[in-house]
Amino acid sequence: MKTMAKKIAVIGGGSSGLTAIKCCLDEGLEPTCFERTDDIGGLWRFNENPDDGRASIYKSVIINTSKEMMCFSDFPIPDDYPNYMHNAKIMDYFRMYAKHFDLLKHIQFKTSVCSIKKRPDFSSSSQWDVITEKDGKQESAIFDGILVCSGHHTFPHLPLHTFPGIDKFKGRYYHSRDYKHPFEFEGKRIIVIGIGNSGGDLAVELSAFAKQVFLSTRRGAWIVNRVSDEGFPLDVVLFSRFKQLIKQLLPVSMLNSWAENKMNARFNHDNYGLKPCHRIISQHPTINDDLPNRIIAGKILIKPNVKMFTETAAVFEDGTMEENIDAVFFATGYSFSFPFFDDPSLTVHNNKIPLYKFVFPADLEKVTVAFIGLIQPVGAIMPISELQSRWAARVLKGVIKLPSMCDMKADIAMTKEEMEKRYVESPRHTIQVDYIQYMDELAMQIGAKPNLLPLLVKDPKLAKEVFFGPCTPYQYRLNGPGVWKGARQALLTQRDRIIKPTRTRVVDKNMMDHSSSMPLLLKAAAVLLVLAAVFLHF
Ligand code: FAD
Ligand code: NAP
Repeated sequence: MKTMAKKIAVIGGGSSGLTAIKCCLDEGLEPTCFERTDDIGGLWRFNENPDDGRASIYKSVIINTSKEMMCFSDFPIPDDYPNYMHNAKIMDYFRMYAKHFDLLKHIQFKTSVCSIKKRPDFSSSSQWDVITEKDGKQESAIFDGILVCSGHHTFPHLPLHTFPGIDKFKGRYYHSRDYKHPFEFEGKRIIVIGIGNSGGDLAVELSAFAKQVFLSTRRGAWIVNRVSDEGFPLDVVLFSRFKQLIKQLLPVSMLNSWAENKMNARFNHDNYGLKPCHRIISQHPTINDDLPNRIIAGKILIKPNVKMFTETAAVFEDGTMEENIDAVFFATGYSFSFPFFDDPSLTVHNNKIPLYKFVFPADLEKVTVAFIGLIQPVGAIMPISELQSRWAARVLKGVIKLPSMCDMKADIAMTKEEMEKRYVESPRHTIQVDYIQYMDELAMQIGAKPNLLPLLVKDPKLAKEVFFGPCTPYQYRLNGPGVWKGARQALLTQRDRIIKPTRTRVVDKNMMDHSSSMPLLLKAAAVLLVLAAVFLHF
């Protein structure tokens, strides 16, 4: 007799929700996605006015993770799309993904999830009562599993209590989520507080219009470039299995020094007022190619933390004061919570919730709920959400068993300890993961980690790309459940897709003027001759 497919509620239709739906379908589950707004895309769908309960971006946002590293593993981004996409292009890609895999029909739009409670017989059924609301009308339905994909950049962290006098400040102040365009700030004097990626982006954009921008930071930051060696995207250059191996072999302090020297070679962080006291890997990276250009042009001045505000001015912790401030932007990050749960094991305290591998709550007697995308990777979120969803779908289907509650708790404690050891203490550093390491950990749960030695024997060309090339998501479709036939080809052509959108003017090699080029030996001889002449002269 055919068993009924398990019903899974997917909360949210952003990039995590889309891939969660697809992974449920791949495993023969029956997903229903509830999205409170009228469209997909979550954070990446720009709107002039922030929606309640949905993350909000500024018009100009360009992603800081590159296309080959951020795509879903069985759906490469078109080769002519730029490596770092504007939010509108990202939306195009998500729409193509939803269309290609026919996901829209599983989404109930304009439907908010209000409450998710264990059913009275939860200990035997493991089921949940989900209450949703659409057009003011509530409905209840029973689900066998829940995939929470509601995002973690929605609720602003606005620490006004740490800024005495802000209540008397006569200018305007905002959280970065409310920032949309720079034009209205033409000629103004502006303070941006916080040097995460929002703080950096806002300060740079505003500085093109404002009279003066002050970027205030309580601990400084190492500033990393999107455009890395030879113009390749940063994540493409950094995240390869070969480099990962070297990273594991070298002492952490040596890696820190190497990276910091590289950053300082571009511009000295001390001279630019940015040098932090911590090492480079102890903070979530701030990626910004333009910040030093704006500082050297005097359009942005770096300042320490604000000690207090007066009606019109800000006094900084070094005792300096800036008068006639028109506006303050708090780019102070986000808090996350899941207000639809009332279960204590699913409650968040100070951006902390104990989850096994950041996915499964270890305290539930039956683990039929998973959190997708609740990570802050050094790298892209989307393929991580996808691999989490592949794992979660197989757990919910019942083909993968989780470890015991005790083992999961021990793993959670160890991960927390490692994170606290590495990162400076901050509410923004509670869900940090490293891209390759974490993807491999997830892939091992489902048996999709690439197996290099057999691959080397079977397909040396591919093995070479998997080891030395960028660790793109296609690698996780080569073996195990969910193999994708196109993965090999996608891997072998990834470098072409990276170069194509920048190499839009191709130089004809036959037309190149080589008249001035000199063979190396001739150059060496010329240098020797000059040296001999100088020597004889004296
Ligand atoms: P979201 O995109 O936030 O989507 C969540 C969805 O859930 C929304 O559509 C919302 O309406 C819906 N929802 C929430 N609650 C409910 C409810 N109760 N009922 C029904 N629906 C609900 N990540 C990267 O990898 N690379 C980047 O370069 C990058 N840049 C970023 C830039 C900015 C400015 C910010 C703020 C974040 C950035 N991120 C980046 C992180 C970003 O969170 C992810 O890229 C991605 O959007 C996460 O997708 P998501 O689906 O998990 O969450
Ligand atoms: P964030 O990374 O959490 O950074 C918050 C900043 O505010 C940090 O510098 C933090 O300092 C500071 N801060 C917090 N509380 C403070 C306080 N009380 N006093 C002084 N400073 C305080 O937030 P975000 O920059 O909004 O970034 C959120 C996410 O969006 C990140 O994943 C980021 O990568 C992403 N993002 C990406 C882009 C892009 O792709 N272009 C753009 C924007 C954001 P401490 O470090 O000292 O805590």
